[in-house]
Amino acid sequence: MEHSSFKHREHQSVEGRMPFNAILIGAPGVGKGTQCDILKSKVDYAHVSTGDLIRAEIRNQTEIGLSIQSITEKGGLVPDEIINQMLCNHINSLPINQSWMIDGFPRTLAQAQFLKDSGLQITHIIELAGDEAEITKRLSGRLFDPLTGSTYHKINNPPPADVAGRCITRKDDQPAVIAQRFQIFRDSAEAIRTLFSDLEVIIDAKGKSIQEIASQIEKILL
Ligand code: AMP
Repeated sequence: MEHSSFKHREHQSVEGRMPFNAILIGAPGVGKGTQCDILKSKVDYAHVSTGDLIRAEIRNQTEIGLSIQSITEKGGLVPDEIINQMLCNHINSLPINQSWMIDGFPRTLAQAQFLKDSGLQITHIIELAGDEAEITKRLSGRLFDPLTGSTYHKINNPPPADVAGRCITRKDDQPAVIAQRFQIFRDSAEAIRTLFSDLEVIIDAKGKSIQEIASQIEKILL
């Protein structure tokens, strides 16, 4: 595997504002993807979801996709070297002055250390802190459209009639797998907090509406 490294980026302000290079962390299902979508409607930025990068590899049945499919379906983590490389390739392909927010990475101490050592300029780390019982309820109702990658919810956000028939529950949204994913998050979050304590802002998402959380994120980034 080729060596993973990020291209050096010298940012300039765009329309009077410096681009943000942010990382959003939080337990699976806390609403990171939803918040990234809302932010999209407010500002031009790249949402870099490592879960989406992985699902695209699997959907396209690439060599890497085939080798990691079963790990992902069981809720396990893809090996650090593979995900680090995928992230590097993706970030390096973005225009220099593009704002971006990474969602789903780092997930392990090794990934956090890789990020720290990489010299990649990070402007913010935002942690969404949610309630695990509330999240489990929401995740087990989540529906996924394998064709477009869109996510819906059985009760809160049902899929349109023409796509409902092909929507599925992601294997990694089943309760036993969710519990394992929470554990992985807890194990890695502490390390991330320690390595990036100077950059981190924690948003208490418990009992907050999606819009309340969105406006807090906006205040931090924009
Ligand atoms: P997500 O959509 O972020 O919940 O990710 C779905 C799945 O992709 C995870 O359960 C992991 O199997 C894999 N994955 C996503 N991000 C990472 C990462 N940073 N490190 C290892 N595996 C990952």
